[in-house]
Amino acid sequence: MKSKVLLIYTGGTIGMIQDPKSGQLKPFDFKHLSEQIPELNKFDIDLSSVSFDRPIDSSDMHPAIWIDLVGIIENNYKKFDGFVILHGSDTMSFTASALSFMLENLNKPVILTGSQLPIGIIRTDGKENLITAIEIAAAKQNGRPIITEVCIYFEYQLYRGNRTHKFNSENFQAFQSANYPILAEAGVHIKYNYSALKKATDKKLRIHTDLNSDIAILKLFPGITPNVVNAILNIKNNRAVILESYGSGNCSTEKWFIEALKKSVEKGIIILNVTQCNAGAVEQGKYETSAELTSAGVIGGNDITTEAAVAKLMFLLGSYNDSKKIKRNLTFNLQGEITV
Ligand code: ASP
Repeated sequence: MKSKVLLIYTGGTIGMIQDPKSGQLKPFDFKHLSEQIPELNKFDIDLSSVSFDRPIDSSDMHPAIWIDLVGIIENNYKKFDGFVILHGSDTMSFTASALSFMLENLNKPVILTGSQLPIGIIRTDGKENLITAIEIAAAKQNGRPIITEVCIYFEYQLYRGNRTHKFNSENFQAFQSANYPILAEAGVHIKYNYSALKKATDKKLRIHTDLNSDIAILKLFPGITPNVVNAILNIKNNRAVILESYGSGNCSTEKWFIEALKKSVEKGIIILNVTQCNAGAVEQGKYETSAELTSAGVIGGNDITTEAAVAKLMFLLGSYNDSKKIKRNLTFNLQGEITV
């Protein structure tokens, strides 16, 4: 039996071609995908595709579009063995993180990919990315999908989606998964790192579409003023703040700063401490400069990325009203997003 894969085109550089007259990049008609990539016809895979009516640059990505994407996957879940989402790379890590929380008990591959150069350009990285992403989405072992989670495939590497960060705007290798091993590497063969893969589940797919965006990010820098800190901590109707601290979760020990955090927590704001570093984890209490955070009620985010923290908070705030429950869940590993 041929594997059935659904390609979902949302937009981004990968789907662009150069207009011969103006030289500008514009989205190509996705129905003619195999004209751009004739190699697709050689696949022993049953490939179908859907395209957004108005493909977007991923800088315009929005939680409402994540809900649309989840709807497409839910409606086609039984019909297909795997899904490939073509997406701009700029916010791909946010989308991958969000989908990982929205698609609970996922038992099939959802692979996001894109490219740095449009598919219509000779040196494009898009062809390899797309072809291998499709192969991974179709891959089975003993009749069951090898991958059962939301991933990003880019430049020969498969990553757990909610562990990724776009770290390079120019290199073909645009993504990093600094705190979790690579799930697969594509060379002559696609080598899966089986021990790192999410285990399959017998539970039924459960969709979550209640997301709450009442969150903010407070990124620290030396010299940050009480004005800025207080403005962010006191945003009207805001429910949570991601505190991007230094190193292993360290912040200024100035009294006004700790007091501001404490007051905010007392008012019911959830503060999640994540590191500004690309790799490593928040360890509140390791240094004197982070010990007071725990007593102020700040939650240590462990080794979560900012992208996954945004998605996890939106998901938890949308799912629960009870702050205690939200705070507890922030410390749990829900979809492989933190190491506990
Ligand atoms: N700005 C583009 C986007 O994110 C870049 C890309 O496609 O990689 O949609």
